[in-house]
Amino acid sequence: MVLKNVTQVSYCIDVATSSVSANPDEIRELVKQGLTFWRNEFSRVERGMGAGQFTLGNQNFEERPCSGSDVDLRFQFGYETLTPAQISYLVDPTKYIGITVRTNDDYLVNLHGKGFIFIASDIGEKSYHGGKDTTLISMAWKRKRLLEYVILHELGHVFGVPHSGSGLMSETFLEQMLSVSLADAFEKTPIESILTIDEKLDLCGMGTGSNFAMQWLGVPATHNCLRLSLNKVNGQWELTSRKDDEPSSAKRLGAFFVGTPELSDFKVRPAVVLQLMGNLTVFTPQETKFRSFMFGPMLAEGGFKANFVISPGNSKPAYLRVSPGSLLIQAVNGLKIENIFSYSSPISLLLLRDPTPTIHPTNIRKEEPLNESTRK
Ligand SMILES: [Zn+2]
Repeated sequence: MVLKNVTQVSYCIDVATSSVSANPDEIRELVKQGLTFWRNEFSRVERGMGAGQFTLGNQNFEERPCSGSDVDLRFQFGYETLTPAQISYLVDPTKYIGITVRTNDDYLVNLHGKGFIFIASDIGEKSYHGGKDTTLISMAWKRKRLLEYVILHELGHVFGVPHSGSGLMSETFLEQMLSVSLADAFEKTPIESILTIDEKLDLCGMGTGSNFAMQWLGVPATHNCLRLSLNKVNGQWELTSRKDDEPSSAKRLGAFFVGTPELSDFKVRPAVVLQLMGNLTVFTPQETKFRSFMFGPMLAEGGFKANFVISPGNSKPAYLRVSPGSLLIQAVNGLKIENIFSYSSPISLLLLRDPTPTIHPTNIRKEEPLNESTRK
């Protein structure tokens, strides 16, 4: 985890080209994109209502060559990039798909972490699970989206995000992503925000909504897609509908004006917690509020009374519930409350679709997130 006291982070990328199917240039590009992804994630949350007590991810990351330089963060793609010391630390590196390890002991004094990210080979007998597990796809890193996901997941640990929830940072994410039954679906899944809900949400086809919902929202009968997008200036969610594959058919249906959060239906929890030790000098006692921990970016989840404004003077009440992976809008239908717009992050739906992954007990991947609970 790197914090406000660190402005510059150096990293290098080492690729074992004989046992990794991805192109090193592509890897380099995806690492850059991954760093940008997390920086955007944290900055979006820091603007929001549940901002934490310390800033995260606003450092300048600079790539250097791996040979001969002492960098903060080493990306090591493939078994052959590991040193004998790393191999003995990991015991059996083929048990991992990816792992992030912090290596410096003075971290708790200066909060400037050093370490490495190891992403397993995907070709040959030194690949993840020795290449013998037939429940996992082979040559996964040839698929750009899967490579992107493994980099994003491990970078999350670098920034101190532990395993949690049913999305990108789920404990079983990597294993499920490479499973034969889900890999194709993961490859088609767009990258989404995980600390907040995305600002543009699309629902198409079967999942669009009930007859009541379509009527309530005023969706033309020939339209089968809905798009809800956040207007960042005034905080309202604009709704449009269209025919699939026909962008010119788009029609504005109205906008949800969202009120203040309902106190009975609102909670925040920290995405990152920083444990503080006695000899830490980075934060003053006032900044830490004399506690032994601080909260990083917060995940907010809550319900809001909303008004769906179709045109000036023509509006109706609704209830909007938003969490990092979902957005639900409900309205009253006679004596019942019905869902009129229900969006869940495709990743969480995928991860839940496979409730009993076929993991062999002897092959279970162990992965230690880089956070305070795993310090050596
Ligand atoms: Zn992990």
